[in-house]
Amino acid sequence: MAACWAAVLCFMASLGIRYGSAILNCKTLLIGRQDVNKPVICVGVAFGVIVGGAVVEGFFREPFQLDVERLSIVAPSLPTEFDGLKVAQLSDLHIHSVSKAYQRAIDDIQREHPNLVVITGDLVDRPEDTSACISFLSQLRNAAGVPMVVVPGNWDHRAFPTEQSIATWHKRLQEETGVRVLVNQNAVLHHQGSRIWLVGTDDPYFGYADLDASFKGVPETAFALVLTHAPEAFEELARRRPAKVVLAGHTHGGQVRLPLIGAVMVPSRYGTRFAHGLFKLGDTIFYVNAGMGMSHIPVRFMCRPELTIMTLRKGG
Ligand SMILES: [Zn+2]
Repeated sequence: MAACWAAVLCFMASLGIRYGSAILNCKTLLIGRQDVNKPVICVGVAFGVIVGGAVVEGFFREPFQLDVERLSIVAPSLPTEFDGLKVAQLSDLHIHSVSKAYQRAIDDIQREHPNLVVITGDLVDRPEDTSACISFLSQLRNAAGVPMVVVPGNWDHRAFPTEQSIATWHKRLQEETGVRVLVNQNAVLHHQGSRIWLVGTDDPYFGYADLDASFKGVPETAFALVLTHAPEAFEELARRRPAKVVLAGHTHGGQVRLPLIGAVMVPSRYGTRFAHGLFKLGDTIFYVNAGMGMSHIPVRFMCRPELTIMTLRKGG
């Protein structure tokens, strides 16, 4: 454990050095004096540098950056015609304005030329944020020029707590941006005479997901790309036919991660088990995106906003 914390402190010290040159200058002045305890001053200054560096990194730098995570997923049941299907995934927008990271997401997705763009929930925190959300999705759809599919998350239900209010918001979202909102529904994606199913569940974190309704009419022998906000339905999804790849978010990758420790806290009944990345349960492959935005505290540390570029490959 001591080694672990030493590694944490070393890492944070390196951040501190990056941001703390002014403080280090103060240190030089202070330890030049004869009447101060030099080791105590050094420890105090180092601590200040570490904390200052972490604060700058977590509150003012990382939230405005964007990591592009690239991966290939091999799926035996993917129709040959869909081999190479490129999917761009964003999640957990928590958007308040179309700031630098969101603008970069638009530019990066336009550059990647995906066949499909999906957003796995938590678009807005409050009704006041809907204009920013519509502006972002409209710009993104114009830039990408491909179908876009969205599913709701728990924060969308918090912003619109009644069945009527969230239905009205989804209707406006579809009409003003051209995205498709799937709420315990599915849609067919056609390509070169073949087809796969896009399945979108309502939010499973608050218990709104209805998998029977979501998969209604999807043939057992089909291939499905499933969008769901949170990992809460993963085990139930793994038990269900047809063959599928599942994309989710909600965890923000922990939002704050520490060296050797990883995610400090993840709001999931699975804890940190599905915090971020690729997982396999049975024949089903799951990917959890680290999200774009932040909830509760506006900080990201060692867990940058993420755009996932996923290529589906047919394979055995
Ligand atoms: Zn969420």
